Amino acid sequence: MLTRSVRQFDPQMADNRTISQLEAEGYPWISCECCKGTVWVPFKMLRERLPMLSAMTLDQLGARMRCDKCGKRPERYYPANQNDTPGFVRS
Ligand SMILES: [Zn+2]
Repeated sequence: MLTRSVRQFDPQMADNRTISQLEAEGYPWISCECCKGTVWVPFKMLRERLPMLSAMTLDQLGARMRCDKCGKRPERYYPANQNDTPGFVRS
């Protein structure tokens, strides 16, 4: 039997939830950490560029995210909702 309830938040751990699943769970954003700090990107915005977004996992999406300043992948990325935000970072 699989127990998913004990899964703890760990950014190093592969996140195999799809974006549509995350949205259903109440996470409208992906949060990326890079040289600029934390940047929140709405899935809605990404969907305009990635029509297959809903079927992608968070890891697949993270692999496609690129910092517009240093050009690297974000060091960490995770699903985010309003309760997590200490203050909205605008780029
Ligand atoms: Zn960067």
